[in-house]
Amino acid sequence: MPYATGFKKLEDRTALPHALEELSALLGERVSLSEEDRILCGKDFWPLTNVWFMEGKIASLPDAVVWPETTEEVAAVIKIAKGYKIPVIPFGEGSGVLGGITAVEGGIVIDMKRMNRILSIDEESLLLTVETGINGEILERKLNQKGFTLRHTPQSVRCSTLGGWIACRAAGQFSTKYGKIEDMLTAIQAVLPDGSIYENTVAPRSASGPRIDQLLLGAEGTLGVVTRAVLKIWRLPEKQTGRSFAFLTIEDALRAVRDILQKNIKPAVVRIYDAGETEHHFKEIEAARDKVMLILVMEGIEKLVAVENEVVQSCCEKWQGEDCGDGPVHHWFETRFNVSISSHLIQNGAVFDTMEVAAPWSKIAPLYHQVIKALKAVPGTILAGGHFSHVYHDGACLYLSVVGIPVALSKEDYYHQIWDAAMKTTMAMGGTCSHHHGIGLNRSRFLQEELGEAGFNMLKAVKQALDPEGIMNPGKLGMGGE
Ligand SMILES: Cc1cc2nc3c(=O)[nH]c(=O)nc-3n(C[C@H](O)[C@H](O)[C@H](O)COP(=O)(O)OP(=O)(O)OC[C@H]3O[C@@H](n4cnc5c(N)ncnc54)[C@H](O)[C@@H]3O)c2cc1C
Repeated sequence: MPYATGFKKLEDRTALPHALEELSALLGERVSLSEEDRILCGKDFWPLTNVWFMEGKIASLPDAVVWPETTEEVAAVIKIAKGYKIPVIPFGEGSGVLGGITAVEGGIVIDMKRMNRILSIDEESLLLTVETGINGEILERKLNQKGFTLRHTPQSVRCSTLGGWIACRAAGQFSTKYGKIEDMLTAIQAVLPDGSIYENTVAPRSASGPRIDQLLLGAEGTLGVVTRAVLKIWRLPEKQTGRSFAFLTIEDALRAVRDILQKNIKPAVVRIYDAGETEHHFKEIEAARDKVMLILVMEGIEKLVAVENEVVQSCCEKWQGEDCGDGPVHHWFETRFNVSISSHLIQNGAVFDTMEVAAPWSKIAPLYHQVIKALKAVPGTILAGGHFSHVYHDGACLYLSVVGIPVALSKEDYYHQIWDAAMKTTMAMGGTCSHHHGIGLNRSRFLQEELGEAGFNMLKAVKQALDPEGIMNPGKLGMGGE
């Protein structure tokens, strides 16, 4: 399979046979050189790789795939790779959307799927210890069977792992009450690029120096492989209620939600759909025609849900929200994992992507208008819209969708232009480039600008100190792989 533009294998492969011999001695049949395995682990859901794939090209191929079963085996693999200066790419399920697992220099993929055991549940502290290769849906089901929940359900929960969530700082649909993955995480175990095993103390909070465990959060496999995590879990909620309201403007809906959050009321789910997305998702709701739909789910103990319901009602009424009942919430529950529209669009020749950015309340509405304007200004864009998918005391995440059928530009040039337009406008308006998908390859060119010179130098210094050979997932977070 030919490589897509820009990526190439390392020229010098002389060390590879020796490394593969040692890996086979260590893992036996849990080492694969087959093209099928390498293709499967060589691309994720980055739309540009899909465009290439449909043209019969692959971003790049790793040299081998390995399946360790213990932290010690991961450490041994990394030590072998380090000895021969061969890249290592941690792999969950490849549901990342930014090319984060692309083997830009080839190398060894560590597929974590065999490290999928629940190790313990501390029912008194409500803490779960689990290996990071576990699939999200399987983990949640196993917890539910015991009366618990992690309440982390990204739209990709069925095709992603805990390790990928930690590596990308993922956000689930119930984030307003339960937080993003970083809020759920109490401790981690990771294999560092020198093969040593790091673990931090399990404690609710710690002031023992800086939180170095958090360096692995959002590091996208560039600073090590996260092998185990200790996470907060919850007892299954006693009561759950859904509400929906239609607003005349985005600003009114945002104000109502801000009021709710700033009263320290935390619905589990909060989604605000702009008029275009409301039309797409809720076209049968007459009261929402040409309006902005707000979906809320409250859950917990019955008394708390009753109070939350009252506050939600009064804040929405204050901003002229029209009560649309719980029908739209049922519809949301039924369709929340359905992403078939994206494959449909791509198969029909369109370019489609999503982008998630975040900003404080004071900036989020103007940012929404400016980014949509910038996306629509790129020649070929036929649709740009969005919804607010995660909200906080101090701001919100804006999740954008864009569809284009470029004529004057190639698909690849169009793709780069929409990302330039959205990211540059977001930064100019005071927002952060990523709320939960991370950086991968696609956003690497924007990271230095967002972190600033001092911030980016700090990141590079950490990388250099921990991984002087640059073997861990090169080319990601704007580092290595040039
Ligand atoms: C349809 C769809 C819907 C999505 N919805 C959401 C959503 O609602 N919320 C959200 O946050 N994201 C969402 N995503 C993005 C994606 O699912 C997340 O980024 C997810 O966290 C990736 O998990 P994964 O196991 O598939 O990781 P991969 O794609 O395999 O890897 C992603 C990155 O993590 C690194 N990595 C993986 N495992 C480890 C490990 N154990 N240690 C160190 N590094 C590791 C990889 O090297 C890579 O850099 C969605 C994606 C799709 C395709």
